[in-house]
Amino acid sequence: IEERFDAIVVGAGMAGNAAALTMAKRGMKVLQIERGEYPGSKNVQGAILYADMLEKLVPNFREDAPLERHLVEQRFWMMDERSHTGLHYRSDDFNEEKPNRYTIIRAQFDKWFSSQAQEAGAIVLCETTVKELVKDAYGKVIGVITDREGGEVHADVVVLAEGVNGLLGTKADLRERPSPDKVALAVKEMHFLPRETIEARFNLKGDEGVVIEAAGTISRGMTGMGFVYANKESVSVGIGCLVADFQKSGETPYDLLERFKKHPSIAPLIEGSEVKEYAGHLIPEGGYKAIPQLYGDGWVVVGDAAQLNNALHREGSNLAMTSGRIAGEAIFQVKSRKDPMTKENLALYKKMLDESFVIKDLKKYKDMPDLLHIQSQNFFLTYPQLINKALQNFVRVDGTPKVDKEKVTIRSFVSARSWAGLFGDAFRFARAWR
Ligand code: FAD
Repeated sequence: IEERFDAIVVGAGMAGNAAALTMAKRGMKVLQIERGEYPGSKNVQGAILYADMLEKLVPNFREDAPLERHLVEQRFWMMDERSHTGLHYRSDDFNEEKPNRYTIIRAQFDKWFSSQAQEAGAIVLCETTVKELVKDAYGKVIGVITDREGGEVHADVVVLAEGVNGLLGTKADLRERPSPDKVALAVKEMHFLPRETIEARFNLKGDEGVVIEAAGTISRGMTGMGFVYANKESVSVGIGCLVADFQKSGETPYDLLERFKKHPSIAPLIEGSEVKEYAGHLIPEGGYKAIPQLYGDGWVVVGDAAQLNNALHREGSNLAMTSGRIAGEAIFQVKSRKDPMTKENLALYKKMLDESFVIKDLKKYKDMPDLLHIQSQNFFLTYPQLINKALQNFVRVDGTPKVDKEKVTIRSFVSARSWAGLFGDAFRFARAWR
């Protein structure tokens, strides 16, 4: 490719598509490079799409984006081996004209999202892998080398939207490789069932949807969570834990998933289904403290590659879209002023991102990832067991006086954690939450 571009975007996932679309819409000459056969072919997500962030990029997306179900209910489950204690929120308010959250299938969605960038004028090159960044004599990034013949391309700025592994950034010494205690490995299956069966089992009508987020003994004391998301004609079931915890425990992701599917609260939801897809992927879970340098001379990094993921709220795609959009807007502003794409000028991206919910949310929970990792045995094993036992004791009617039942429950908590331990855990959790 002989041409020179205003910007090269590496990756056509959520972040890359948002960046490419934003810049192309403003008339910039954008080349987007994706290693997959088509955008989305390599991408894995639960997947919940957050409408507000997409609306800022494609206001009328509801007209033709491939959406599955709009969410009217969210269930949070704390599980032990045979039970779950649930907090469910369901509201008819979510049957609104412009629903707030949808389930999606990434392979279809990313293809559509990329078509928006292409219609706006971005050139998208698939089945092409960027092997290296090109730097000038002063260390400024001036382009990329792809695996195509003669595949060196130059641009004023390179947007790294290459996802969680971030191999290019690491190779070019722009950042360190994420450590195993900062990334989770998640596996997911798609269970196909007739539409009416899904609607009956999950108490849904029409295109209403529900998601279940589950934590507890299902992760065997490791920091992690499982999920069940209802699509139109499939249910996506997955589980993920920190890579460091898998290394330490010797557990395997597919064993966890098998056990999760057999849990008495999950099995009836997917009984008789046909499994058509199995996927594994990393998720950045280090939070605020794991965010690397976000910009430099001739480059910015967005989305999962920048570790922008709110694991506690299970939000990633919206942070990816927002960081991609903001990077695109910042780059456009620098270009409009006819300023060079230096580190100093691209600091605007970080400034704008700091003012957004992306950094504010991650900063709020900055101590949570460490707490959950260090205390994983308590938060993912001991407490779920105690809480489920306490709830069973509470609801079971067997002639035992309530006052004696309460004593049994309190004793179970104190003997498992001691008073000091209980207050300490509550204090540490509240402090990390605030
Ligand atoms: P990606 O979507 O990973 O895109 C990166 C792209 O770059 C890929 O297309 C890849 O092929 C391409 N690429 C990489 N290297 C190169 C290269 N060298 N050359 C060319 N192309 C390259 N988030 C939510 O908001 N809601 C959810 O429900 C949710 N559930 C999840 C469930 C699972 C199991 C997982 C794994 C993640 C989930 N996430 C969820 C997180 C979400 O998927 C990510 O935050 C989001 O996909 C990040 O987007 P991205 O564009 O940064 O990276």
